[in-house]
Amino acid sequence: MSEATVHGTQASAHPAPRRVARRTWLAWLGGAAALGAAARWLPEFQVTLLNYVGLATLVTLGLVVLTGVAGIVSFGQQAFVGIAAYTTAGMTTLAGLSPWLGLVASIVLVALSALVIGVVTLKLSGHYLTIATIAWGIAIYYLFGNLPGLGQYSGVDNLPPPALAGWVLDSGREMFLLIWAAALVALVGARNLLDSRAGRAIRALRHRAAMAEACGVDTALLKLVVFVQAALLAGLAGWLHAHYLRFVSPHAFGVNAGIDYLFMAVIGGAAQVWGAVVGAGIVVLLKEWLADSLPRLFALKGNVEIIVFGILMIVLLQRTREGLVPALVRGWRSLPALQRLGARLQRRASPIANDTIDAAGDTAAAGLAGTAVLPRRQRPAAGTPLLQVRGLYRRFGGLVAVKGLSFELRSGEILGLIGPNGAGKSTAFNLISGALAADGGEVVLGGERIDGRRASAIARCGLARSFQHVHLVSRMSVLDNVALGAHLRGRRGTLAAMLRLERTEEAALRAEAARQLDRVGLGGALHASAGSLPLGQQRIVEIARALAADPRLVLLDEPAAGLRYAEKRRLADLLRALRDEGLTILLVEHDMEFVMGLVDRLVVMDFGEKIAEGLPADVRRNPAVIEAYLGVAQ
Ligand code: ADP
Ligand code: MG
Repeated sequence: MSEATVHGTQASAHPAPRRVARRTWLAWLGGAAALGAAARWLPEFQVTLLNYVGLATLVTLGLVVLTGVAGIVSFGQQAFVGIAAYTTAGMTTLAGLSPWLGLVASIVLVALSALVIGVVTLKLSGHYLTIATIAWGIAIYYLFGNLPGLGQYSGVDNLPPPALAGWVLDSGREMFLLIWAAALVALVGARNLLDSRAGRAIRALRHRAAMAEACGVDTALLKLVVFVQAALLAGLAGWLHAHYLRFVSPHAFGVNAGIDYLFMAVIGGAAQVWGAVVGAGIVVLLKEWLADSLPRLFALKGNVEIIVFGILMIVLLQRTREGLVPALVRGWRSLPALQRLGARLQRRASPIANDTIDAAGDTAAAGLAGTAVLPRRQRPAAGTPLLQVRGLYRRFGGLVAVKGLSFELRSGEILGLIGPNGAGKSTAFNLISGALAADGGEVVLGGERIDGRRASAIARCGLARSFQHVHLVSRMSVLDNVALGAHLRGRRGTLAAMLRLERTEEAALRAEAARQLDRVGLGGALHASAGSLPLGQQRIVEIARALAADPRLVLLDEPAAGLRYAEKRRLADLLRALRDEGLTILLVEHDMEFVMGLVDRLVVMDFGEKIAEGLPADVRRNPAVIEAYLGVAQ
């Protein structure tokens, strides 16, 4: 992933984009030449095997993004392969239409069925979703077996081969070109997708959906988009499968095929785009080899290869938890000579690599100078009411966590929300930001009611937040994590990303992220993975992420927790500077000294209720506060 990021940066901010474009074209030409050579000179049998690998690669690639990256486990991809194969079989054999019309119809039908299945099942969480994928896989298998006019369980044969301007692709070698051209385009598209604005959001879906939502990502919609795209890849494989074999039968689309695809994704390394080829290759070749050699070795009948295959898979998964590609990459990187070479290449490739910055004694954002700047939001005049919270109420079972909380926040002030542990501060934050639904009360931001809206919609109204328990995508770079904060300032979606049509916007988003990281003092850590930073710095990354959204109001939940004394002072200076620029800040904090010296006003909560409000000096003297909170703390 880090490699992809480096290349992405290079493509977006490199001073010589023409050179990059030339290199891209050379790579495509090289790929085409390799395909042509393989189709011309490989023995027939190997071409056949590679065709199966190519078809499986397409399906697995969808799973890599869906399961490996977005965390949605599906055992049902073979159903979409089957829907496409049967659609084109019906269109070409029953209606005598062209395979290309069959392709269009397959794609449309797969997209529609994925849309329906996705809308119904993606709301389910975790294991329920997985079970639902198995259920639809079984249902569709029986549907194929019982379709009138389509051969039932014995299948349909005599499908026509596709033809390109008079060139009939009726041999395995010709279909090899088509299958692998499709696979290569899909692989590059998926790689581009993951290295983009949309890709960052997809990578956050698995463990950090709440955070992505708070960054303005409509996670429900994004899950559906990823699901439909994975289904479309499976559908494309189904169409190719049907016209390559010129025969379809339900058996190729049973649940066992779905399990195989998932195996391929997991073995290759479920979060790696190129793992799809490796996984598909290993599973297809291993199965073939076992089926061929075992009966000869042991003179056994029946499907012994399936048992041996199962055992081998278990061993492989035990040895390489994250799949083969990551394990191979690690092994490769651990060779010292290669490490040095990799470091040198990375330095040359990335204009904003850490050491370049250090050497130049310059800032991170300077490396991205010259890229487009994102438009900024108009901030309301200082002192006008920005946030009104009225009678906010939330209960968890029998416990009332927030009980009729009301307060107001004016533009350009820092309001501290304090109270003992369990007072309801974080719950109040979650209600205001839309992470939790309120049972009662109103929240008004800039004159607009925002309660009842999705968190992503509230984020787009100019509210950004950090989380008490840090919410970063730990395997993503610090820069990408912060760029996710700027998500709502960009517009380009998955399709533009696959085609690399969003490089200007992407460069602007990344430049903004680098600028915010500079500002919070983490300009030297852009390319570190977020999870590798100490916890205190991770909190600061969250602040940079919130700032990247260009918010009107920032909600910070205990930002100073885990910081050292000097770091706290720097954080206080930063927050003051932000306020002086017109930003409004709502701050939950435990450290009294930190809060008292920083905030303009305080609201004190205890047992879900507001017990005091006012200037820090007054609140400090309030007997109720002393009893509830300060008395305990001091
Ligand atoms: P604070 O941030 O002030 O420490 P919280 O808002 O986290 O307090 O919690 C307020 C009360 O609500 C606590 O008693 C806590 O145990 C309870 N609570 C918070 N979140 C949940 C939840 N998701 N389910 C049940 N109880 C919760
Ligand atoms: Mg809390």
